[in-house]
Amino acid sequence: MSINSYPDPALLRATVAEHGVPVLLLSCETIRSQYRSLHEALPGVELHYALKPLPHPDVVAALADEGASFDLATNGEVDVVRAAGIAPERCIHTHPIKRDGDISHALAYGCTTFVVDNPYELDKFLPYRDQAEILVRISFRSSDAVVDLSYKFGIAPDQALDLITKARDMGIKVRGLCFHVGSQSAMSYKHVEAIGFCRQLFNLAALEGIELDTLDIGGGFPVPYTEPVMPIDDFCRPIVAALERDFSGTRILAEPGRFISAPSMTLVSSVMGKSERGGTMWYYLDDGLYGSYSGKLYDHCNYQIIPLKLLEGEEPDERRPSVIAGPTCDSIDVIYEGQMLPELECGDLLVSPMMGAYTWATATEFNFFPKTKIVRVD
Ligand SMILES: *Cc1c(COP(=O)(O)O)cnc(C)c1O
Repeated sequence: MSINSYPDPALLRATVAEHGVPVLLLSCETIRSQYRSLHEALPGVELHYALKPLPHPDVVAALADEGASFDLATNGEVDVVRAAGIAPERCIHTHPIKRDGDISHALAYGCTTFVVDNPYELDKFLPYRDQAEILVRISFRSSDAVVDLSYKFGIAPDQALDLITKARDMGIKVRGLCFHVGSQSAMSYKHVEAIGFCRQLFNLAALEGIELDTLDIGGGFPVPYTEPVMPIDDFCRPIVAALERDFSGTRILAEPGRFISAPSMTLVSSVMGKSERGGTMWYYLDDGLYGSYSGKLYDHCNYQIIPLKLLEGEEPDERRPSVIAGPTCDSIDVIYEGQMLPELECGDLLVSPMMGAYTWATATEFNFFPKTKIVRVD
């Protein structure tokens, strides 16, 4: 996927004419093609789409139709897949920290695989030990992922065996291990290292008489925002080799979120107002850091932002360093400073591709600017 792939400008204009701005254009065809490329890059791996980056019912329906499985973390996510008619056997519940009501809600739906990373959490499964099965989440710290998801969760590798044997002694079935090396990983060697560690843990568990049969390699598969990333086949090749070496015959799952949803949405916003301040042009858009660009804060992500008229071929005479700000009255709500932009007019449209993951999902309604509407375009 190129970092410069935009929807057809005519489609963008037509959608804005019909639905107004700001608007997020959702392509379920892109969801399907992302799923297929990852499926081809990771043959034999069950792909559980993590709903968290974009928990949209149309995304879930398109993926269900492709044969995907699902990764749930909250009662709200359980309700989305249940409403879509997904069989609960195709779902796993991966939040390492749960209330009793979270466990019972997922079990009532029929989802029986849960993730645990500490002994306190294990205690919560005593009442459910006849129905629930466990994956133990291991922490492998990753300094080069953009979002290190082993900081907050996961048991240290050298404590994992104690947790597994404790579960066995409590009569709780442990099926296997899982990890998440971090989101938007630049390279896959962390996955490969983690797979090697997990092999050792499988062996140690076997010495204790515990046969593990499932390995979940998490998410982290990268997409291009403002910089190119490794093509997904190249990214996955070392992972596939490590799995063949260490885990042939084991059930393998993955939990992709960003890779599947990020390229599926394009944001179109408009200039609400402009001002020349201290010689710099300021453009105030109708979407910002409290809205669809929330991922700039929470997801540490930079998105491209391009005036639609440039995509339509207009050649500007002059570009000036400009500030692009969001609509709220808070000064933190500045998206970019020092952007080289041609002069924009009120009402001009701006386009950001790759806005499907951790954008709308983390947007707020601060200052009563509502969350941007999602419109499906195919
Ligand atoms: C967020 C999350 C994912 C998705 O990660 P991506 O990097 O977006 O693919 C998968 N599994 C768990 C447990 C998560 O918290």
